[in-house]
Amino acid sequence: MEEKECAFCGEIIKAKAVVCRFCQIDLASGQSLAQAQPPQSPETVNARSGIEDGVNLGCGMFIVLPLLILGAVILLFWILAFFSAF
Ligand SMILES: [Zn+2]
Repeated sequence: MEEKECAFCGEIIKAKAVVCRFCQIDLASGQSLAQAQPPQSPETVNARSGIEDGVNLGCGMFIVLPLLILGAVILLFWILAFFSAF
C-alpha cells in the first residue's frame, strides 16, 4: 500500500486515504470531521426539546382536561339549578 504524509498532522497515512486517521481532517476539503460532526448535535438537542415539549404538553393536558371537565360539570349543575328554579 502506498503511503503519504498527512499535510495537517504529518503522520504517515495511506495514499488513498480521504480522511486522516490521526487528526480526522478531510484531506480534500481540509475540514476536520471532529468539527464537522457537532452540527448533528443541535438536532439531538431539538429532539430532546421536542420530547420536553411533548412532556410539557402532556402535563398541560393533565391540567387543562380536568379543568374542562370540572367546568362542564359546574355548567351542567348551574343549568340544572337554573331550570329547577322554575
Ligand atoms: Zn492528519
